[in-house]
Amino acid sequence: PAHTHHTDPTGSETATDPRAVLSAGVTVPLADGRVVGYAALDYAASAPVLSRVWDEVARYAPSYGSVHRGAGQLSRLSTELFERSRATVAGFLGLRPTDRLLFTRSTTDSLNLLAAALPAGTRVLVFETEHHAALLPWAHHGHRVDYLATPDDPAAAVRAVEEALADGPVGPTLLCVTGASNVTGELWPVRELAAAAHRHGARIVLDAAQLVPHRPVDVRAWDVDWVAFSGHKLYAPFGAGVLAGRADWLDAAPPYLAGGGATRVVSREAGAAVRVVWADGETRHEAGSPNVIGALAVAAACRALTEGEGYRALVAHERALLGRLRAGLAELPRVRELSLFGPAAERVAVVSFTVAGWDSAEFARALADRYGIGVRSGMFCAQPLVRRLLGADGPADDCGGPLQAVRVSFGAGTPAEHVERLL
Ligand code: PLP
Repeated sequence: PAHTHHTDPTGSETATDPRAVLSAGVTVPLADGRVVGYAALDYAASAPVLSRVWDEVARYAPSYGSVHRGAGQLSRLSTELFERSRATVAGFLGLRPTDRLLFTRSTTDSLNLLAAALPAGTRVLVFETEHHAALLPWAHHGHRVDYLATPDDPAAAVRAVEEALADGPVGPTLLCVTGASNVTGELWPVRELAAAAHRHGARIVLDAAQLVPHRPVDVRAWDVDWVAFSGHKLYAPFGAGVLAGRADWLDAAPPYLAGGGATRVVSREAGAAVRVVWADGETRHEAGSPNVIGALAVAAACRALTEGEGYRALVAHERALLGRLRAGLAELPRVRELSLFGPAAERVAVVSFTVAGWDSAEFARALADRYGIGVRSGMFCAQPLVRRLLGADGPADDCGGPLQAVRVSFGAGTPAEHVERLL
């Protein structure tokens, strides 16, 4: 359709169903030649895009221009939308007024950015069972890392942090923790961990990649110092992530990337090296042309999850389906659900399991080929955790398959039929 002019392209439009996802109408061929509606049950890897998010992007796309770089109307509009998206996401996260919000590429990018910005000599505490994106950036950027042993329950996680910090930090110290596991869906005690870290003078960064798609995050109320998440797990298209939180360490650090947009003055006197005065504020760490479409999409997704019934409706929907899924799996004698904190632990709509007699990769492929169901198999970028959950000897898998599991995850737009078909 022809583009129509608009005064407020970010203004939310009421789609018929605010939780409708683009994958709802997708059909796929099965091995036997039949064609069925695709059952997307791999939201934890990348969630389908909400139709209303896509609509906003499509509405804006014909009139986008460069951000922070042009004098034309479309550049000005894009700059305004980019900064307005920043404000929307800041509100979504409950940031403090002095916090920074940086648009990045992803959670992985965000945590690497923070790792690159930590003061020299920072000690990092991280549970050995974290997602690789939360586990690996710290040592990669040269920091001293203390890996905390896997706790058996949330209270043990808090105790482990207290013990690790009992002597008090001798310098800057950061705890990195995931809010919801991408393997078991289990929730970690973020507020208690933040309080424990702060009691001992340490700071905390929350990997909210799997939390924000299912639960609201409140940075100020939970007293976390930084939070990171990815747009593509939050019903936005690929390409944009967020790092938000305390300004001081970010402002003091050298820019994450050197390049245009991160500079105030660049000069060179003959024979001398180039001299740079780096920009302050967000742009310091956002060198290069910003991803305005990505930022706009993340902001649209944040609005979709908070407007109207918001998370309340989503949580209720997921709870009902999760209860049905877990009860159904429990009745299948060859299926073993993976859990770190025990079956009663509170969790989001992410469930991993093994199936005795099946290699997990073959099982996942069979779900696709025979039923049109998309799940993930493997170790989910959390190898130490999956190894631990499967037990040192591996799964009870008489095919002798590799140490792997099958993961089912869902959310907005998932009909009950997808869960029934899987069971
Ligand atoms: N943290 C957790 C808990 C995740 O599940 C993921 C993605 O799988 C990430 C971080 C990394 O996210 P991305 O691949 O978008 O950088």
